[in-house]
Amino acid sequence: MPEAPISTSVQMVQDLHIHTTYSASDTSVVPEMTIALVAAVGHAKVVGISDHFENLVDGVFDAYAWEVRNAGLKLGVEVDGHAWAAEAADYPVDYYLYHCRDRRADYRGLEALLATRRPVIIAHPNAFGTDWRQLPPACHMEINNRYVWRSDWWAYYAPIRDRFPFVLGSDAHQPNWLGQSVARHVATRLGIEERVLF
Ligand SMILES: [Zn+2]
Ligand SMILES: [Zn+2]
Repeated sequence: MPEAPISTSVQMVQDLHIHTTYSASDTSVVPEMTIALVAAVGHAKVVGISDHFENLVDGVFDAYAWEVRNAGLKLGVEVDGHAWAAEAADYPVDYYLYHCRDRRADYRGLEALLATRRPVIIAHPNAFGTDWRQLPPACHMEINNRYVWRSDWWAYYAPIRDRFPFVLGSDAHQPNWLGQSVARHVATRLGIEERVLF
């Protein structure tokens, strides 16, 4: 077990969107971004790892799951749309992040994940132009520190403030991305209170 993190005054409530070196196809991840490092930083009270699901199939998942759990973190995966949804539903994770592009197949694929009754977080929906009208109210909407500022977040999120539960995520790929300052600013401006899932 890694050392228990020493809590800091800037500790966040929850961060469930974090990538590590297990996201092998993602060129934004640096070699230093290991599960052990994330656990040691302890930037949030609840920390979950959500590496790309397509990088975890073919026998990698078991080692990933063991390492995440052994570090005392929540076990997630980020699922890239309908092509991976049915397979991902069979894996014993704590929660899903889901790439839901604005297409019918992706809204349908979502149903397989929701049927597991585990939390499903719609990842950076403003960046994908996800049509929230197509989403069941059981979905959690993400305010993503990496992407939220790249669009007119007021126009996207203000109409749905009371329709969905919200989760804030860093989408960290590097150690210095472990933060949610912009996402928290946006949530405060919108009057949104995050839902703590674990
Ligand atoms: Zn993503
Ligand atoms: Zn991500």
